[in-house]
Amino acid sequence: MQQALIIGAGITGLTAARSLAEHGFQVTVLEKRDHIGGNAFDYYDNGVLVHKYGPHLFHTGKKEVADFLQRFSDFIPYSHRVLGEIDGRLVPIPFNFRSIDLLFPEREAQHLKELLTREYPDGGSVPIMELRRHPDAGVQELAEFVFRKVFYNYTKKQWGKPPEEMDASVMGRVPVRMSYDDRYFTDEFQMMPADGYTALFQNMARHENIRIRYGCDACRHIEIVEGGICFDGELWDGPVIYTGCIEELFGAEYGRLPYRSLRFELEHHHAEHVQPAVQINYPNRHTYTRTSEFKLVQKERIPDRTILMYEYPIPCGDGDIPYYPVESAESRALYERYRQRADGIPKLYPAGRLAEYRYYNMDIAVERALRLAERICS
Ligand code: UDP
Repeated sequence: MQQALIIGAGITGLTAARSLAEHGFQVTVLEKRDHIGGNAFDYYDNGVLVHKYGPHLFHTGKKEVADFLQRFSDFIPYSHRVLGEIDGRLVPIPFNFRSIDLLFPEREAQHLKELLTREYPDGGSVPIMELRRHPDAGVQELAEFVFRKVFYNYTKKQWGKPPEEMDASVMGRVPVRMSYDDRYFTDEFQMMPADGYTALFQNMARHENIRIRYGCDACRHIEIVEGGICFDGELWDGPVIYTGCIEELFGAEYGRLPYRSLRFELEHHHAEHVQPAVQINYPNRHTYTRTSEFKLVQKERIPDRTILMYEYPIPCGDGDIPYYPVESAESRALYERYRQRADGIPKLYPAGRLAEYRYYNMDIAVERALRLAERICS
């Protein structure tokens, strides 16, 4: 039987593990932490599901990905909606016609909506940085308002630098909507695993060909040698899928890649619920970026308790968990140096947000892991 080694039991590693196992590989997964699921791990605290590493709301336009995940869990329909505190009011984010109605006097709001409808007759979504470059002075003025009130301070908090210094794709994730569509995502499939991600991942890993070793730092067990990779002192013959930070494979020889990390605080309340939405963003106040009340996602019927999560972005120092790659020309160039080294090692496959240094959503991670497993099997 062919063997595969997978480093990391997050969404990328597990998807690949399951797919390879079903193709007849004997799969060993090494996981540094003591639990499954990477940063999508969740757990129950007094009956309330908590996303330990921050909100993970599932959405995809890819039927294949939706079908794959639905093999391992029931899903409940859930369309994420977010409110942002702007000028003391809670308005829908992405900024849309409803946000305009709430923030501007009626006649001005009417004028702005007519202007946007004229310029964008098909509705849709426009990235804020693109809207700022619109030739019409009125559109530009509104874009500047949204940029200042929604994006500027939030982005400085989240990334430690202003939007102008960010990769355009990051700012484009949350566009401005030329309609009353107030959903955070517009993908066809918007749903959440009925019993949480952890249960889903456990089902995904439940296969006779998959073995997960927890509390196992791969960098202590694998060694890059002439001609391949040694695992526990012996040359490993099969594929190795690596989902950790790529630079750690090489002792960060050229320096660490920049990441952003997060610190979370939980607040337990004796109340049915405390927020008018699952997620509230605070672009301009507080040192946290957002608060999440996960209970409203699962609609758990617990009358007297709920939990609020506060999210504080922090620089990623030694010992902190890397959440987001900070993409720029400079960091990509550094990544490419490591990647070239990795590509020179036979049967080594860097995969996922950290090893590929890309801000992938969960569905993209799943899709890419499925493709990778197919490639390995072909
Ligand atoms: N963003 C912002 N204001 C908001 C929401 C998002 O400026 O109210 C910007 C910010 O730079 C953020 C990016 O858009 O990092 C992507 O937001 P998203 O909600 O997709 O972030 P994630 O949920 O992945 O942390």
